[in-house]
Amino acid sequence: MKVLKFGGTSVGSAQRMKEVANLILDGERKIVVLSAMSGTTNTLVEISDYLYKKNPVGANEIINSLEKKYFATIEELYSSQEYKGKAKETIKTNFDYIRSFTKDLFTLFEEKVVLAQGELMSTAMFNLYLQEKGVKSALIPALDYARTDKNAEPDPAYIKDKLTAILANNPDQDIYITQGYICRNAYGEIDNLQRGGSDYSASLIGAAINADEIQIWTDIDGMHNNDPRFVENTQPVRHLHFEEAAELAYFGAKILHPTCITPAKLNNIPVRLLNTMEPSAPGTLISNETELKKIKAVAAKDGITSIKIKSGRMLMAHGFMRKVFEIFETYQTSVDLVTTSEVGVSLTIDNKRHLPEILDDLKKFGTVSVDEEMVIICVVGDLEWTNLGFEAKVVESLRNIPVRMISYGGSNYNISILVKAEDKKRALQALSDHIFNKKN
Ligand code: ADP
Ligand code: ASP
Ligand code: MG
Repeated sequence: MKVLKFGGTSVGSAQRMKEVANLILDGERKIVVLSAMSGTTNTLVEISDYLYKKNPVGANEIINSLEKKYFATIEELYSSQEYKGKAKETIKTNFDYIRSFTKDLFTLFEEKVVLAQGELMSTAMFNLYLQEKGVKSALIPALDYARTDKNAEPDPAYIKDKLTAILANNPDQDIYITQGYICRNAYGEIDNLQRGGSDYSASLIGAAINADEIQIWTDIDGMHNNDPRFVENTQPVRHLHFEEAAELAYFGAKILHPTCITPAKLNNIPVRLLNTMEPSAPGTLISNETELKKIKAVAAKDGITSIKIKSGRMLMAHGFMRKVFEIFETYQTSVDLVTTSEVGVSLTIDNKRHLPEILDDLKKFGTVSVDEEMVIICVVGDLEWTNLGFEAKVVESLRNIPVRMISYGGSNYNISILVKAEDKKRALQALSDHIFNKKN
């Protein structure tokens, strides 16, 4: 069985939902994972913000206008009064639930419960639409099988057991519809897999049922060789190795959730990125094969802070690195890039929550300096060290841009470069021009 995930834009209107239905009805049984309709999760975040600020009037205004939008979509999506009625009744329950938090501002309000309504609504509406069309479909609630453990990491064994049992109890269906993004945590409370997490859900589900393929349907024809939001003239990449895709996702290619490749990679399940707006485009195939000796793509990760510890006396002494890294471990802050020299070490973090404490502790070991508002640019491909010339190409592309750190050799798949956030767009464009478009 295949798992197909459709993102927010792909289910963003009645027309889009109809197109998704046409796409999936090819006679094959499948699991369909849906995001919330585009814009909904952002709006639910906004509603939660008003609720936090104990402003029921502000919250209600947004709730009412979102509800109106949903009712208009329902009018357009279904053809019969019967199904329009059923859908309105269902969706009204979700909105009344959200509204209940505006009435009693003293009960403990849970943002995650509000955020979960987006995926609960899109899947309920889509399932009713398939049923109106006479399709044998079943709604499989993610909250019954998707769970994270005490470290807030997905629990693959639990997901596999529960999902397998649920599917076995619903044997005669053609399409199984479920929610991306939402789950329960180790305490049974409603939680989620972070923004953009529906991709991760699809990959976890694919791993749980040992799917033939995981398809991520979105609004672009696959992984492009650079970020199309910042760079002109990007092209789709046809094949990526799991490792290459994982690096790109982790280092900012928004088309994939940062950790969504891991479950597919561990279970060797190919992932295909496809375009709902252009279903016949080939997209990108991610598997354990790839084209060799080629730079594939570039991505950028924002919000990076770099820290330099200079200590002529101690750097190369036994145990110095361990002491430095222990500080980051104590404050549960992960380190992305590391570069060293005889007199110092530089590293980067993407979480500044404990920065003041970390800096205080590091000062025991040397002189500490910090650069904030930085960006990691990640160049990905088959960059095994005996393949000549790739690092030179990257450095040459960035000859007019100040580079704070360069990291190469950590894997065979990437070269990471740290630049100022203000230089991000220029750096990405220069890499595309020089490496992919051969402008200079
Ligand atoms: P969905 O709602 O379907 O999950 P997303 O908005 O999360 O879609 O991801 C798709 C978007 O990712 C694209 O519209 C594009 O702007 C952005 N994106 C960023 N980097 C890349 C890249 N390298 N290749 C393709 N898309 C990218
Ligand atoms: N709806 C969630 C979000 O907007 C999850 C997703 O779309 O993947 O972040
Ligand atoms: Mg997404």
